[in-house]
Amino acid sequence: MLRTHTCGELKKEDVGTYVTLCGWVQSRRDHGGLIFIDLRDRYGTTQVVFNPEKQKRSFDIADTARSEYVAQVEGTVLGRPDEMVNPNLTTGAIEVEGQAITVLNESQTPPFEIESDQEAERAINEERRLTYRYLDLRRPRVKRNIVVRHEMVRFIRNFLSDRKFLEVETPLLTKSTPEGARDYLVPARQHPGTFYSLPQSPQQYKQLLMVGGIDRYFQIAKCLRDEDSRGDRQAEFTQLDLEMSFVERDDVLDLVEEMMITLIEHLNERGYIKKRILQKPIPRLAYDDVMLRYGIDKPDLRFGLEISDITEMVNGCGFAVFADAVKKGGVVRALNARGAGDVLSRSHIDELTELAKKHRAKGLAYIKVKDGGELDSPIVKFLGDELSGAIVKKLGAHAGDIIFFGADHHLIAEEALAYVRLDLGRRLNMIDPEVIALSFTIDFPLFEPEMVDGHYAPMHHMFTMPRKEDISLLDTDPLKVKSWQYDLVINGNETAGGSIRIHVPDIQQKIFDLIGFSEEDEKNFAHMLEAFRYGAPPHGGMAPGIDRILMLLLDEPNIREVMAFPKTGDGSDLVIGAPAFVDPKQLKELGIQSLTPNP
Ligand code: ASP
Repeated sequence: MLRTHTCGELKKEDVGTYVTLCGWVQSRRDHGGLIFIDLRDRYGTTQVVFNPEKQKRSFDIADTARSEYVAQVEGTVLGRPDEMVNPNLTTGAIEVEGQAITVLNESQTPPFEIESDQEAERAINEERRLTYRYLDLRRPRVKRNIVVRHEMVRFIRNFLSDRKFLEVETPLLTKSTPEGARDYLVPARQHPGTFYSLPQSPQQYKQLLMVGGIDRYFQIAKCLRDEDSRGDRQAEFTQLDLEMSFVERDDVLDLVEEMMITLIEHLNERGYIKKRILQKPIPRLAYDDVMLRYGIDKPDLRFGLEISDITEMVNGCGFAVFADAVKKGGVVRALNARGAGDVLSRSHIDELTELAKKHRAKGLAYIKVKDGGELDSPIVKFLGDELSGAIVKKLGAHAGDIIFFGADHHLIAEEALAYVRLDLGRRLNMIDPEVIALSFTIDFPLFEPEMVDGHYAPMHHMFTMPRKEDISLLDTDPLKVKSWQYDLVINGNETAGGSIRIHVPDIQQKIFDLIGFSEEDEKNFAHMLEAFRYGAPPHGGMAPGIDRILMLLLDEPNIREVMAFPKTGDGSDLVIGAPAFVDPKQLKELGIQSLTPNP
């Protein structure tokens, strides 16, 4: 037996036991003739002390040990005197008197310190961490993330298995899927000239599983979309993919709601996270409503700062920017940044104006309410005192508040004020880091408000069912059609999307027509229509993003931190060195010629 205990488990009760431990040398300290080694493994750290008077040979070997050497240590557990107990260590009440030590493997000096405080950690270049990810994984933070990831996935597996879900694996070598990103292609050796696509999600397979009578399916599924990586996005990521038969929207939402709440409670109870769910049950908010109040379909509900519509009030007013926007069929919206007057300087307001412009607005009008109620704003003289006063009243603004306005096509006004609101939430310190705000956005339009190349573009994907009462609108006014799409939003991030699906071939065909499918496109998805002709049950599902949810639960700044082997922004795996040139023989076998020859 190489070890009797791990480095994280010995307690006062073990005093007197003879133990064998294995691990990495965290540190070696020479103190007044004694050598102290902190031995670390996944479970913790144990202090081992070597005394030359008792074990000269072991002392000499311990003296040669260096950081990250792998060692096996034998000895007796000793209690530490009360005043020496280290409350920060699970093993802080004991130490091991080292009676034998074997170096199992040496280590070069690591390129960065394995155990370091947060300050030091931030200073380590991320590329370096990713190049030596196997060393980075030894560090407490990454290790914690991997542990919590496991705990989350295990919880989900149990939760769904207890509710009759079957975990089914679906192929990775498949055909183009409909999520709308670029596909990864894999040449098919046995069919020269043809390619498999890696799945952007198991969408079609899970629907086919429903046709197959599986009834309740889930999978911890790898999804692959050939996109540039960002903080919250990787080309290769993991979804909890699920699908259910004979359900309506609220059946799916009820399930996901219970799963999310119990998952967060479970992780809290285990001490892995410290999060207070803002609202239970999880609010289900209509798309039109959130667009109006927050300007965005993934509202951050951790703070208020709601947006109001004042289009009617300013119709025909003396301020041309507002009046023109209304005349052109646009909107005027406003939000009251309570207390911002004391916090935001002129240059802060300029920054917010730049932000609004970045989101297509022409500018950012504002009214500042000064002490005594006097209004400070370049636009008041155009609006007039009466209208200005009425706006201030409608927005409930008082001394110290600033009202910001958006006047434009509703899409632009919404977007600009949405980002101004998010920025204000942060600047005004309105976010409690322990609060987690979940919401479902429901009642999405079936199509994006703006057409693409003269065709309607699905807001979710083309298998999403229009609402029954809107089906006739598909022929007359498709942009008015609402669907059974829904998203799960956490702290202003889209963390899951899903829908009730079309299971009737005629409706599916109609959607193909509206989105401008060519014959070729249709052929690609003909198997779905075909399958629906053999008795497809009504069905629907959802796909929460495991990485993104973990990132939010663990307050990590990006999803790389919650993945064992993430890729860099340009899609490189720095540990393995992927992607890489291949042997020209391999290409030949595949009937492929590269336009970029090997260097
Ligand atoms: N396949 C969808 C996606 O990956 C989710 C779903 O509709 O279940 O976004």
